[in-house]
Amino acid sequence: MQKTIGYAAHDNKSPLEPFSFERREPLPTDIQIEILFCGVCHSDVHQVRNEWGNAAFPMVPGHEIVGKVTRIGNAVTAFKIGDSVGVGCLVDSCKVCPDCNDHQEQFCNSAVFTYNSPDKHSGGTNYGGYSKQIVVDQDFVLHVSDKLDLAAVAPLLCAGITTYSPLRHWNVGKGDKVGIVGLGGLGHMAIKFAHAFGAHVVLFTTSPGKTEDAKRLGADEVVISKNPEEMEKHLASFDFILNTVAAPHNLDAFTALLKRDGTLCLVGLPDQPHPSPSIGNLIFKRRTIAGSLIGGLKETQEMLDFCAENAITSDIEIIPIQQVNEAFDRMVKSDVKYRFVIDLASLQQTEA
Ligand code: NAP
Ligand code: ZN
Repeated sequence: MQKTIGYAAHDNKSPLEPFSFERREPLPTDIQIEILFCGVCHSDVHQVRNEWGNAAFPMVPGHEIVGKVTRIGNAVTAFKIGDSVGVGCLVDSCKVCPDCNDHQEQFCNSAVFTYNSPDKHSGGTNYGGYSKQIVVDQDFVLHVSDKLDLAAVAPLLCAGITTYSPLRHWNVGKGDKVGIVGLGGLGHMAIKFAHAFGAHVVLFTTSPGKTEDAKRLGADEVVISKNPEEMEKHLASFDFILNTVAAPHNLDAFTALLKRDGTLCLVGLPDQPHPSPSIGNLIFKRRTIAGSLIGGLKETQEMLDFCAENAITSDIEIIPIQQVNEAFDRMVKSDVKYRFVIDLASLQQTEA
């Protein structure tokens, strides 16, 4: 085992603080990564505050990891020391079930998430990317292009793939009218991808102040979702709506905007249920409410390659790790433009 350092929550009420812990020595198929940047996802807030009811403490969050390879096991073939790499929400799966065989490891019943998941190596709970280094099986490490700003790549590992995957699954492209609900970390990546795929993109926001940014990011129209007259203009006109909101709200306002056979896909995972949706809204136009979970490793690499080819990254605010608790509070108030990314070099101050 090797000692390392990060920031951890010790219960669901206290701020994150410096934390020393151990990582395993690299096994033959493992990669050891010096973490340069880690994005701050709303899922980190949900889990640290135990809003999903599954928190194990101490918890080192972080699943939007970008760094450099510093050590490799002797059976590693696809990576070498010095490579720029990424790790997202997954660090292991069974590798043999139908979901794994279909490159949909996120749905494997034995999927191991990057933190707050049982760790077969230590017998305890694993620790995430708000830390100096991480050791991960090579099958769960992604190649990252050095053409892109590595700090702005970090959010692609969760916010990027979580929006890219459903837009691809529902074949969003030219000629489609697509809605994105919520302009935060996921929402801003969803606008960029839907725009890049050629769709007509409409952002639904509760924050009128975000209108100009939404247009700059690629939205063709912006609708203030609290304004019923503005919503009414779009009744029964959308092919697909991707809802990224992190709080319970009335879904009927959005299902009513779908065309016949349209889909409202939920990716936001609030701590409390949404009010039960109107069944009439669904059956009279054969509309669907669906869900989607991150994406598999193959598709995550495809998304990273697409971003490198099309110069797509996240719009970020870089923070030292000492400011992570303020970043959590600002994110909960929808005050984020549009992803906080921790510069892990700041951990040196903690070690000094
Ligand atoms: P975020 O940056 O906080 O963005 C969420 C946005 O939702 C806010 O910026 C805000 O946008 C809108 N919003 C927040 N509260 C609202 C309310 N009460 N009513 C209406 N709109 C509200 O969060 P994120 O990191 O993008 O994550 C969003 C959600 O997705 C979280 O629940 C997270 O856990 C979940 N998630 C799911 C997956 C998955 O695989 N399915 C992966 C990652 C994250 P406006 O200001 O524009 O209204
Ligand atoms: Zn996330």
